[in-house]
Amino acid sequence: MDQIRIDDLRFFAHHGVFDFETEQGQNFVLSVVMETDTRRAGKTDALEDSTSYADAVEFLVSFLTEHTFKLLEAAAEQAAQALLLRYPLIRAVELELRKPEAPIKLDFESVGVRIRRGWHTAYIALGSNLGDKQSYIQSALDGMAENKLIRVKKTSTLITTAPYGGVEQDEFLNGVCQIETLYTPEELLDFLHLLEQAAHRERKVHWGPRTLDLDILLYDNIIMSTDRLTIPHIDIQHRDFVLAPMAEIAPYVEHPVLHKPMLQLWKELEGTWS
Ligand code: AMP
Repeated sequence: MDQIRIDDLRFFAHHGVFDFETEQGQNFVLSVVMETDTRRAGKTDALEDSTSYADAVEFLVSFLTEHTFKLLEAAAEQAAQALLLRYPLIRAVELELRKPEAPIKLDFESVGVRIRRGWHTAYIALGSNLGDKQSYIQSALDGMAENKLIRVKKTSTLITTAPYGGVEQDEFLNGVCQIETLYTPEELLDFLHLLEQAAHRERKVHWGPRTLDLDILLYDNIIMSTDRLTIPHIDIQHRDFVLAPMAEIAPYVEHPVLHKPMLQLWKELEGTWS
């Protein structure tokens, strides 16, 4: 991705663990690399097609002088997030924040932290088979849309499917959505659990009825497996009610483990791939 960058910008602020640091303040040095597509601005030569680095840097310096953090980690984290929320054309930012006068009795140039933060693309499976299914799914989509750390980009048609798992229950309403998010996978799962709880999900029977079920299908091209989270979701290739809506909104997105596009996985499951 193209970059807009600012190196070694000096400013005065009040971050630090010690009282004298927050009271008296000290010099800081900021370097920022913003990842953004500059092609359009490169062709039109018009500022409105780009992110003004003057604007972005002034915004960052105001943010870092108006707020006080104990840790450089927190200052960098919050500043990166504020920048990404403020400037939608910036996909990711690498931000380095240094203290040349940090209270260390040694001979050094500066101490600092460097982080990279950005928007991630994820696909979420939406399902409900109890009560007003459509409105449970809509409430999940609304909940995501209202969260500033999530942008809902695409939503599939909702389809009705037969229940699975052999438990006697009502049919399901299923769909998927594509989002962009600043959350990590674990944070995203925590947020989806909040939405499920808000829908009063009752988990009395495994595979049993649920007002709302939200699963992370894909998160960028990440492959991970922990006690809490397996991504890509373990059963994508076996579930028609996931693959049919994925084939609608993301037909050529490749499964990062199976290396096949969603449309192909769907047709293979249906036995119509040749
Ligand atoms: P379920 O009954 O299908 O909603 O499964 C719930 C549990 O599956 C969650 O509490 C997660 O810890 C775990 N899990 C593992 N991988 C995923 C994933 N990709 N998306 C959502 N939940 C997951």
